Amino acid sequence: LWHRCLTRLEDELPSQQFNMWIRPLQVAASADGGEMTLFAPNRFVVDWVRDKYLERIGEVLGELQSGPLPQVRLEVGSSRSRPASPPQPATTAVAERRPAPVVESRPRAVSPELGGAAKHRSNLNSSFTFVTFVEGKSNRMASAAAQQVAENPASHGYNPLLLYGGVGLGKTHLMHAVGNELQRRNPNAKVVYLHSERFVADMISALRNKTINEFKRFYRSVDALLIDDIQFFAGKEQSQEEFFHTFNALLENGQQIILTCDKFPKEVDGLEERLKSRFGWGLSQPLEPPELETRVAILKKKAEEARVELPNDAAFFIAQRIRSNVRELEGALRRVIAHVRFTGAQIDIGLIKEALKDLIALQARQISIDNIQRTVAEYYKIKVPDLHSPRRTRSVARPRQVAMALSKELTSHSLPEIGDSFGGRDHTTVLHACRKVAELRESNPEIEEDYQNLLRTLTS
Ligand code: ADP
Ligand code: MG
Repeated sequence: LWHRCLTRLEDELPSQQFNMWIRPLQVAASADGGEMTLFAPNRFVVDWVRDKYLERIGEVLGELQSGPLPQVRLEVGSSRSRPASPPQPATTAVAERRPAPVVESRPRAVSPELGGAAKHRSNLNSSFTFVTFVEGKSNRMASAAAQQVAENPASHGYNPLLLYGGVGLGKTHLMHAVGNELQRRNPNAKVVYLHSERFVADMISALRNKTINEFKRFYRSVDALLIDDIQFFAGKEQSQEEFFHTFNALLENGQQIILTCDKFPKEVDGLEERLKSRFGWGLSQPLEPPELETRVAILKKKAEEARVELPNDAAFFIAQRIRSNVRELEGALRRVIAHVRFTGAQIDIGLIKEALKDLIALQARQISIDNIQRTVAEYYKIKVPDLHSPRRTRSVARPRQVAMALSKELTSHSLPEIGDSFGGRDHTTVLHACRKVAELRESNPEIEEDYQNLLRTLTS
């Protein structure tokens, strides 16, 4: 279990973070009694992991396993030299579980071995609803499609519904939102959510226990089947085969299928062609990283849910600095809230800076568009405002295009955001610039050399 959890975290986290904090953890040899003990090399790692990763570890474990969720303990030590006496309280950090609904509302009765249809209860996370989902440009289409499916399940053209996009962008949330709405409208509907890894594991144990027919019957008896992260089917041929048949049976019977994937399925290696093409039969909608306005709206909403007053300038301050995804945004807000509760102070910029100082420091070391503009302007001996201006003379237009291409390459800003930073240009202009620069680097060695010099300056 821990091993599979590691694989997931390795996918999710920047590799430096993973190697530094997660990889050194060792799991206790026998993880029984509903408790999982993780050993960290020192106190510092214990604290850091508890603060930053423990909640997520709990969530992933909940997604991966079927039995009651183990309580996760963090201790200083190693799995080989387990201290003979019980660890001192000072070296122990027991995961303090905030209500984490994904984990705690996960009933066990949906699995065929456990009784199947007769005992079916929904395993949906009741806090992932349309009401708690903040809409914005980056998710509007996906959210609209999800609502369509919730209103008219299994209608032509919307089956399967496939939501795809990077981590922490709201795929799982939206998927549950559809399930919850289906269940609300029809309390008798059998809505089953599961992670694709669970599907694989359940199938394997059904094969082993010779209950594969029951397994098949169970999955074919649902009104809506929600399968999360189908990229995990990659390379697992037998599971794909079984899933393919289930999939066809459900479609034929007019049962709704909802899938999520971390990228467009056609781009997932190790997924069978026939599955890829079938996933495309219905409707596929991407989830993009949220833009600034949506990030602010999400923060405001989450603060409200936590009954904390988050002033606008404070929300903007956080949203401008945490840009990657909603999960990170939530993490940052949680730290701010913990800080407020701890100090009893009001939220202001100073408090946020204090609560998020390591995150902000990390951010500062990253390359900003500003930084790129200054470096490019200096290199080509023009002025930074020339990069923002509408002037199109060659002497400024070319450096501007180069700066845009570098911004695309070196920052995680979206095309529209880059356009905004260059005097409010359209995202198609940025796209054009990136293509033009790529073309010029091929055909013109001088430009290639300039580009390489700039890359070196910016990344060293
Ligand atoms: P994914 O499945 O794409 O990795 P999740 O659905 O698990 O992402 O979302 C990560 C976290 O961010 C969840 O807590 C989810 O509730 C929250 N979240 C994501 N998008 C939104 C949104 N648009 N509005 C509110 N919360 C969101
Ligand atoms: Mg997810």
